[in-house]
Amino acid sequence: MRLFTNFLIFILSATLNLKAQEPIEYFLPDDLEYNSQIPTPDQFFKQQLGEWHLTHDQVLYYMNAVVAASDRAILREYARTYENRPLVQLIFTSPENHKKLEELRKIHLKFSDPDEDLSYTDVPIVISLNYGVHGNESSATNSSLLTAYYLAAAKGPKIDNLLKNAIILVDPCLNPDGFSRHSTWANMHQSAVKMTSSDSRQYQEAWPGCRSNHYWFDLNRDYLPLVHPESQGRVAKFHEWKPNIYTDHHEMGPDNTFFFQPGVPTRNNPLSPTENFIYTKKIAEYHSRFLDRIGSLYFAEEQYDDYFVGKGSTYPDIHGCIGILFEQAGFRGRIRETANGVKKLSFGIKNQFTVTLSTLEAAMDLKDDLLKFQKNFYREAIEKAKNDPVKAYFFGDEHDMQKNALFVQLLTKHHIKVYKNEKEFSAEGKTFKPGSSYVVPVKQPQYTLIKSFFEEITTFTDSLFYDISTWTIPYAFNMPFIKSGSLKNAQFSGNPAEPEFPRGKIIGGKSNIAYLLRWEQHFAPDALYRIQNAGLITKAATKKFSFKVDNKKEVFPYGTILIPASGQNYDVDNVFRIISEIAETTGISFYGIEAGFTEEGIYLGSNSFIALQKPEVLMLAGRGVDGNDAGEIWHMFDQRFHIPVCITESYALGSTDLNKYNTVILPDGSYPELTKATAEKLKKWVENGGVLITVKEAALWAASNNIGRVKYKESAKQDSLIQANYAGRNKISGLNAIGGAIFNAEIDASHPLCFGYTNSKIAIFKRGTRVAEPLT
Ligand SMILES: [Zn+2]
Repeated sequence: MRLFTNFLIFILSATLNLKAQEPIEYFLPDDLEYNSQIPTPDQFFKQQLGEWHLTHDQVLYYMNAVVAASDRAILREYARTYENRPLVQLIFTSPENHKKLEELRKIHLKFSDPDEDLSYTDVPIVISLNYGVHGNESSATNSSLLTAYYLAAAKGPKIDNLLKNAIILVDPCLNPDGFSRHSTWANMHQSAVKMTSSDSRQYQEAWPGCRSNHYWFDLNRDYLPLVHPESQGRVAKFHEWKPNIYTDHHEMGPDNTFFFQPGVPTRNNPLSPTENFIYTKKIAEYHSRFLDRIGSLYFAEEQYDDYFVGKGSTYPDIHGCIGILFEQAGFRGRIRETANGVKKLSFGIKNQFTVTLSTLEAAMDLKDDLLKFQKNFYREAIEKAKNDPVKAYFFGDEHDMQKNALFVQLLTKHHIKVYKNEKEFSAEGKTFKPGSSYVVPVKQPQYTLIKSFFEEITTFTDSLFYDISTWTIPYAFNMPFIKSGSLKNAQFSGNPAEPEFPRGKIIGGKSNIAYLLRWEQHFAPDALYRIQNAGLITKAATKKFSFKVDNKKEVFPYGTILIPASGQNYDVDNVFRIISEIAETTGISFYGIEAGFTEEGIYLGSNSFIALQKPEVLMLAGRGVDGNDAGEIWHMFDQRFHIPVCITESYALGSTDLNKYNTVILPDGSYPELTKATAEKLKKWVENGGVLITVKEAALWAASNNIGRVKYKESAKQDSLIQANYAGRNKISGLNAIGGAIFNAEIDASHPLCFGYTNSKIAIFKRGTRVAEPLT
């Protein structure tokens, strides 16, 4: 019995030890008193921080409780995720500052206005603290509760001075959907007894993992494209406040220590001023001092770069702000064995909170310098613009007003002023007409971002990249653009343009013959699917033709969609009604055609119009599939084109009835779960008319299973005489990699895959070194 009791006591204590992470005193500076009216996270949750992975709802409950109990904090929702989770920003400052917050914000914005002249004293600095853009990097968001507690509850002259002289913006969770996936995953794998093995399933997140958002997109690559609501809301908040310091808290592999910027000095973005690097390094001295104090190891100026401005720590750098990347070793569970011993989540939380404190202290010491730096940044931007041989960028696609509107919308979200171009002019074989083109003069406060948007950089100080090396945004839109050395060709009014999404119309009105729809329009697939869903017959032109429209010859290119007005299941009046409604809903313009014979090219009854089927789409997902690629495809169909896509696990394909689908998509991936029998089944389905779309590596899978053909170039042999030492081996592998670059490619515009592209040249963004050979 005694033995049994001892055993029981052992089990109980093991369980207690396991669950317990650390009491609140472990995390907090020990030289301060705290306001007892503010609940600590321990009191609020009746568990210690790190004991369980907090859910997003819990984080919000706590933040609301802090705000309710404190006169130093307010909370504002700024967006909703796809899964309808609120994204929130907390603002901490002194009660006196809160009373005139809007006034202080407006004063602060003058530091980024080159025409304003403000002194640096008696104006608060703005510090933005941002946690967990990657959902599974849990120590970041879990540490934000300590930030909130500290800022609301700490007492004494130091915190009073901070709150008087700073406005602190706290975004506790930048990716609530990914964070929710991860907290569920981490908690559902917690054992009652101690389990630290790195082999545990808790570290093997089910596909597609928890890093990304709802559409499996890496939100830390969305600060420029602003595709997703999380980033749109966040960048709007950035410009609402234009902070002086912007932190971005992450996690890296479990066997690391802690990283803070500056990163590799030779890999700074050249548009970011040298002073930025100097201040980042000055602030880094505070991180190192604070981390030394708690005995945590760290590194800097290695591995990570500050180059791609679409990341959270680099976007601020080209706005006169100091962006700082933090990377804590990620344990992804409550406790884990690592190269640095057994580590707890609480240890990661403590490090993240410690660098929050060091950032706040540095901000106080460098306040006047950082405000001055911000002011100078915008003044110098105007000076640089004056000396820049490029005076403006012109852009516009006369065939796609929807794309133009999307592009103008993106520029305005980044506070770049864009104007309607009111004078036709041609250069470099491109024509920019009034009504469909725009001009962006470079002489404006957002000069630096404009350069980053439009510039084509082809030489680099250091050609090794952690990430992509180029991102010329007009290429991503396939948008015709040029840079201009003078503004004499431009004519534009004083008011910046707003995005104008075209109203859909039927040019020529009701028809008894047919309607045409140009495929170049951005949302044309949305309109086509709606037409097909209404049960109308649709065809696509495989040859060009032209009509007179408004007495002018108009060429309809490959891929133009034909909807006959007669011979449908509806009479011509109802066909007109359906097309009119779809034009209005989608903003797509149609042409009502009154005769079947054309000016030039095929007639409307030609067999060169091929009949189209309504897409019934199946997309494979799961192990071996690139989640980012699959998510991008899903997002495009779902959000942009409103076409349903059935996503299925690749292992389930063997038992799927493929006759329900006419299109199967294999996103980039290796497909280890597709058996020979499944490949055979897919091959038969293709032979019977099914359309199989394979992306990147998936083409290799298809070719190796004799479905379609593809041949890849052999990898170049490495030079065996090259002199390299062990320490420099990363450099050699880096030299043979393509992190992400843009290539100028030729397309066959008559091929159905390229329908909608009017130019035979296209910019292709490429990662990786796999290159296909032309098939003979
Ligand atoms: Zn991260």
